[in-house]
Amino acid sequence: MVSVHEHVIELPKRIVIGSGVLKSVGKIFRDLQLGEPILIVTGPHVVKMYADLLIGSLEEAGYREIYTFIARDATRATAENAVTAAKEYKVKTIIGFGGGKSIDVAKYTAHVANSAFVSIPTAASHDGIASPFASLKGISRPYSVKARTPIAIIADTKIIAKAPRRLLIAGAGDLIAKLTAVRDWRLAHRLKGEYYGEYAASLALLSAKHVIKYASIIRHGGEEAARIVVEGLISSGVAMCIAGSTRPASGSEHLFSHALDMLAPKPALHGEQVALGTIMMMYLHGGNWRAVRATMKRLGLPVTAKELGIEDSIIIKALTIAHKIRPERYTILGESGLTWEAAEKLARITKVIE
Ligand SMILES: [Zn+2]
Repeated sequence: MVSVHEHVIELPKRIVIGSGVLKSVGKIFRDLQLGEPILIVTGPHVVKMYADLLIGSLEEAGYREIYTFIARDATRATAENAVTAAKEYKVKTIIGFGGGKSIDVAKYTAHVANSAFVSIPTAASHDGIASPFASLKGISRPYSVKARTPIAIIADTKIIAKAPRRLLIAGAGDLIAKLTAVRDWRLAHRLKGEYYGEYAASLALLSAKHVIKYASIIRHGGEEAARIVVEGLISSGVAMCIAGSTRPASGSEHLFSHALDMLAPKPALHGEQVALGTIMMMYLHGGNWRAVRATMKRLGLPVTAKELGIEDSIIIKALTIAHKIRPERYTILGESGLTWEAAEKLARITKVIE
């Protein structure tokens, strides 16, 4: 008997990437016939820097009912406040305007309040800028949950290039992670009969290859680097839209990073952590972990626990608990995970710890 996997694919209607595109937001909104009131979910820093430009563009296009919600963190409590505001103002369109936090809060809010969601990232540090999944603190799960697909993604490379370079490099790290995420997905398909989408997997891998190819440009930052990383992150987000899950973008290396978030007193950036995880998971997969490590060095990503600023023992502990974080997500870590001895050996062989 042939089983046919069936699902609905929801894709962004419009993706605009370019220098200075923020001033075209109003026009893009009109083209897509997006309604008002509009709620802009943004951070305290971004609002000072760019809110006038964004609101100006919307007003120029004739929008009048524009509200702003400042998200200081990406917790469930903050998101619930944003939902209350969205419902009170009866907003039709919600903009996530900022780095990861504002986008996550906006995406969740749009999902709960049933409004259109537009993603306008001001930094390119992870692929949540283009995916239908939101990651919030204070929900029962430490990983992303299904929220809303952005109807439009508007990425102004001029603004993104001005964000701290460390964020951009971390974004490249989130793309490196697809190398093992896709291997884990294939493994789950072969061992557990899980649905595997070749097209989505290829698209995710393409974004990783893109970063590997242009590592030396990305390293130095600037607008060209911003464009390369943001295109990759959007491709990865679209791969998740096509797959209908985070599978093409998130495997054992992400589980390891979620474990670090739970254990480390001061976790590093998401993209830095998943990339470090990719070195080790690639070793377990029997792949070329040395090439992963070399690319990360070229990008200027941390390749050791020390460079990441996390203690060796926490790295080892995270490796031993990673498989428990999301038991239904089968990866190279298997169902019983790694013993302390195996985890320590893995971290040593791959030079993550000394
Ligand atoms: Zn990620």
